[in-house]
Amino acid sequence: MFELLKTDPQTKARLGRLTTAHGVVETPVFMPVGTQASVKALDPRELREMGTQIVLGNTYHLNLRPGLDIIRAAGGLHKFMNWEKPILTDSGGFQVFSLAKIRKIKPHGVEFRSHIDGSLLFLGPKEAMEIQRVLGSDIAMVFDECPPHDAPAREQRLAVERTIRWARECREQPRADGQKVFGIVQGGSNPELREECARALVAMEFDGYAIGGVSVGEAEPEMMKAIEFTEPFLPANKARYAMGLGTPAQMIELISRGVDMFDCVLPTRIARTGTAVTHTGAFALKGSAYKTDFGPIEEGCECYACRTFTRAYLRHLLRANEILGLRMVSVHNSHLFLKIMAEVRAAIAAGTFAEFYREFIANYTPSQKILAQRQRETER
Ligand SMILES: [Zn+2]
Repeated sequence: MFELLKTDPQTKARLGRLTTAHGVVETPVFMPVGTQASVKALDPRELREMGTQIVLGNTYHLNLRPGLDIIRAAGGLHKFMNWEKPILTDSGGFQVFSLAKIRKIKPHGVEFRSHIDGSLLFLGPKEAMEIQRVLGSDIAMVFDECPPHDAPAREQRLAVERTIRWARECREQPRADGQKVFGIVQGGSNPELREECARALVAMEFDGYAIGGVSVGEAEPEMMKAIEFTEPFLPANKARYAMGLGTPAQMIELISRGVDMFDCVLPTRIARTGTAVTHTGAFALKGSAYKTDFGPIEEGCECYACRTFTRAYLRHLLRANEILGLRMVSVHNSHLFLKIMAEVRAAIAAGTFAEFYREFIANYTPSQKILAQRQRETER
């Protein structure tokens, strides 16, 4: 399923090719997030035009609404949302543990109350795989337990034990035609737990491996460590996916540490508050500095928003709460994430990734929050 085409000689960056039932995905890849069977504010034509190779769907959300019967009647998730390219579905584990009101963790799953209507539901390995089978995703994720990053050591250990046991149960469930399944490594920022979880999952021979329990509120240095504690135990010939990350600079850092796949709501989420991302960092387009700025969001960007509208006009739309404003910033931000991945792939192929990496990180200004986290780390 995964072909490792090239490894960068100076870093751990990898160029790869993932073959799925709905087509080939070139890695490193960014996957726009379509939690509710829609990448917020973007339609499939726009997604295709900006070079989207694969999108995400979500077991927890789609099972609650519209419900499996409707998606089954539509002929699966691809047909329902009219997306012909690959889809990866998350198992719902993360949402059960972060959104839902958990009533009880049982041996074969979790009893919880829906965050929508409070109804009592049960999701475990068997149910999560059955839902993903009906959705018909190209890549299904195992049902895991993702504890909070500051959970006590005992809880982290229990989560790893359940994650391993549930992964084994997931592996035994029936799948959709050609559906691949990825394991998810948990273990927080504990190196022993990360190693133990990775080794146990690798022994089960999944089609790929995700690193979960990252970007769950922990500081950036801790997140980097979680990846570094896990990566050495993952096989070179399988794809590695860091879940729920990150900023452009974080993705480049993780690519240099051997990660191939990313998904993040960031580009569309911050677009809705009027924040645009460029190769050099993010900025609030609503700022008065852009009142009469008739340049594009980012000079040289080929996205539809930058080809068509000025910063001054988009700033006006955002301030007037016009839907077009947030749609266009969503177009630009998503395009940027995909474009950066294309640049990364070209650099790895040309053998110039180390240079690209150094330059990118040097030119990128992280957010105040991330800078503060780094400062705290160096003071420790
Ligand atoms: Zn643009």
